Amino acid sequence: MSDDFTVFSADAVWCGTAGSRIAGGVVVVRGQEIAWVGAADALPVAYAGAPARHFPGATILPGLIESHAHLSYDGKAGTKKRSFGRSAPNLVAVMIASVRELLSVGVTTVRDLGARDNLSIEVRDAVAEGLVRGPRMLVAGAQITTTGGHTWQNHGRADSPDELRKLVRSHHKAGVDLIKINATGGFMTAKSAPWFAQFSVEEMAAVVEEAHRLGKKVAAHAHGVEGIERAVAAGVDTIEHCTFVAEGAVVEPDIALIDEIAARGIHVCATATWNLPQMMRSNPAFQPPIKLMHERGVQLIAGNDSGIDGVPHSSYAGGLETSVILGIPIEDVLVGATSRAAAALDLTGVAGELVPGASADLIVVGGDPLADISAVRDVRHVLARGAEFTPDPVQVPDPDPAYAEALAAAATFAEVMS
Ligand SMILES: [Zn+2]
Repeated sequence: MSDDFTVFSADAVWCGTAGSRIAGGVVVVRGQEIAWVGAADALPVAYAGAPARHFPGATILPGLIESHAHLSYDGKAGTKKRSFGRSAPNLVAVMIASVRELLSVGVTTVRDLGARDNLSIEVRDAVAEGLVRGPRMLVAGAQITTTGGHTWQNHGRADSPDELRKLVRSHHKAGVDLIKINATGGFMTAKSAPWFAQFSVEEMAAVVEEAHRLGKKVAAHAHGVEGIERAVAAGVDTIEHCTFVAEGAVVEPDIALIDEIAARGIHVCATATWNLPQMMRSNPAFQPPIKLMHERGVQLIAGNDSGIDGVPHSSYAGGLETSVILGIPIEDVLVGATSRAAAALDLTGVAGELVPGASADLIVVGGDPLADISAVRDVRHVLARGAEFTPDPVQVPDPDPAYAEALAAAATFAEVMS
């Protein structure tokens, strides 16, 4: 009977929650599930004869979660614009490449927050069927926006509470896992700006009510304070970006609103990308309040807006490094990339935590990521729903030299940049 099991061990296992590191840890997998987790010296005798894999000098972690990806974009300059001209089959090909890229850097669950029509649903189903290797996918279909609003080219447009209800129902019928709504404009759509609020509270509340009735969560893209405020009032489940950017791309955080987000337990995916420190350095007015949100008790989750210009899917670890350099404690950054992200995605007990009964999604990284977050760059083994995956050799962008220095010195971004 022990043949059904595989025993994975390393210098340590970190299970996905605060204080969950087990020195000399072991994870026992049976098929697609985790069967047992604990210290090597406590391994039940029933597993003693099972096939074993030991990874010296390494740490076992839950598979990572990318909470904000655009799989139909490839991360290269001009990708978004190019995507609007791609045929549907070509977009699907891009998405297949994107999911393999994510799996290769240790991401075993991804939330796609917007692609044209319902193409992401097809890719999700192909991965689930085993036709294509990739992370578990939750998909929003096309982002819901206004006529002429941010990302209108993806065909998710509606302009009144009734039209919005109908669009949510159409998305549900097509098979999306969640709803994404653009509460504000964005940086990359002509005639749109991130500080423009796009929908009224009444309109967004119609979306939330209808989505919740259908058992789906709502993720709201929101940069400017008015859009964030309205999204919070409408009852959305996650806020994406949450930059508090005002006219002229100047960041003006609203502490009372941040406190309300924290009090309501709304998860924020601040899209702290690998290249954010560079952007913050080149524009002193653009300083997203990520550390401030953390200090005020906002539940931050990891996501990179991956796929957008300059942010390849392979840059996932760089986003975690950015959060650390901005002053978030390492273990909290890792919780935001695992169990907390799973909670935000309604996947508690399935993903983001190494516990018996959860899906067998685990990665092995060289070194100790709790001591040096950059260890997450060194992915040595990937298990996704119990199936081994040999990572493709992908191009991972190097950290910004200035912040690599800060990481090494364990200094804060503010100290290094001053
Ligand atoms: Zn996005």
